[in-house]
Amino acid sequence: MQCEFCKIIRGDAAAEILFRNQRAIAILDINPIHYGHVLVMPNNHASTFLDVPDEELHDLISVTKVVTQAMVASLNPPGFNIFSNNGRAAGQSVFHCHFHITPRYDDDKIQFILKLKKYADDEMARYAERIRHYIDTNPIHEIH
Ligand SMILES: [Zn+2]
Repeated sequence: MQCEFCKIIRGDAAAEILFRNQRAIAILDINPIHYGHVLVMPNNHASTFLDVPDEELHDLISVTKVVTQAMVASLNPPGFNIFSNNGRAAGQSVFHCHFHITPRYDDDKIQFILKLKKYADDEMARYAERIRHYIDTNPIHEIH
């Protein structure tokens, strides 16, 4: 398998490993937004967040919190971002699901360039109804 993150998880490629347990691993991003930028991912290959099995999500989120706490306590940034890019359109470059945790500093000039939209008329209700309809008609996606 050519996945760069699977190579790290198997021990076939080098990385600064911060923490790992049976289901998830945290490493430093080699191209950080700020020094101390962490990546957390499941040990089992999953292309996007939606491909991570439910039973692996708890550890993925727990490790994300543990490592965020450690990063914040040790580096003392006044803020942090946690985000995950899923799909090429969203900026995903390694197709092994991962969360980014990056320190943030006042006036660090890092910004997502967003052009926020306004819903017209009943458009917001229609979007909500489309999503709710899927949830209501797919009991396999029961929310716990
Ligand atoms: Zn992988």
